Amino acid sequence: MELFHTPEQALQWADANRDRTVGLVPTMGALHEGHLSLVRQAKRDCRLCCATIFVNPTQFAEGEDLGKYPRTLDADLAGLADAGCDAVFLPTAEQIYPPGFSTYVQPPQVASGWESSSRPTHFRGVATVVLKLFHLVPTSHAFFGQKDYQQLCVIRAMSRDLNLPVQVVGCPIIRESDGLAMSSRNRYLDSDQRLRARLLSLALAQADQAIENGVHDVQALQQLMTQTLSAGTVVDAGGATATVPGIPVGGVDSIDYAVLLDADTLQPIEHLQQPFVGLIAARFGSTRLLDNRVWQPVQ
Ligand code: AMP
Repeated sequence: MELFHTPEQALQWADANRDRTVGLVPTMGALHEGHLSLVRQAKRDCRLCCATIFVNPTQFAEGEDLGKYPRTLDADLAGLADAGCDAVFLPTAEQIYPPGFSTYVQPPQVASGWESSSRPTHFRGVATVVLKLFHLVPTSHAFFGQKDYQQLCVIRAMSRDLNLPVQVVGCPIIRESDGLAMSSRNRYLDSDQRLRARLLSLALAQADQAIENGVHDVQALQQLMTQTLSAGTVVDAGGATATVPGIPVGGVDSIDYAVLLDADTLQPIEHLQQPFVGLIAARFGSTRLLDNRVWQPVQ
């Protein structure tokens, strides 16, 4: 596995491989199976895979966890090599944002609301760095997780709107055995928060069950998700039962949103007659967790 520390090296490598299909996997490091699944998918779809590890300062707001974002480089490189990654680009913040940098991407419409309500400049930073990475390591394909659903929509829309010559591939959410979506930020959770974090995937599973059982009313399904999140529940914990306390609405731990939306535009829906997505965000102290689930139209 080759390591590139400068944009010139990365560009040279991409140039030398321009006749091959190459999958780009942008990450911020602190890698887990979710990230590595993107590398494996890239290796299935493309001849080569190049991952990037860059904790992008422009997608963090003042007071967010940029300074304490986990950095686990040795383990990251071992995991990437094991997953079959061919090259890793590890730029510094100064290389990506040299002195005088002042040009940003205005994110597409689908960036409005949801995550942007609590992180107004987040997608501007994401879109900017992803566009820069597409230029710095020009590849045929780029792989992103469905875990960050709005981000995937933003990158797809940007690629379409700006005619970027990259095929954007969305990959399924990889979960812990109890259903919690893997995230680099899960390590911030204390044991009580970790228990509650299960409620996100449980709320989506309950909505799924309700849809199966014929509940097709959007408001009722949203209420069911919020109720599951706020009421807590009793779960099977390896043969024993455990009580998961609910997440209050408001307070230190709180539900940010639990909604059903059009899967492409992220606009509210009235019926389930187009592909739709359940999006959930909840706060556990200063840690925000996201989860989602996509459904096909219900006739
Ligand atoms: P991050 O390092 O958090 O910026 O994530 C880098 C990429 O990994 C993004 O495309 C994420 O959507 C993706 N990713 C993160 N967690 C997961 C997961 N649990 N399953 C699948 N993809 C994930």
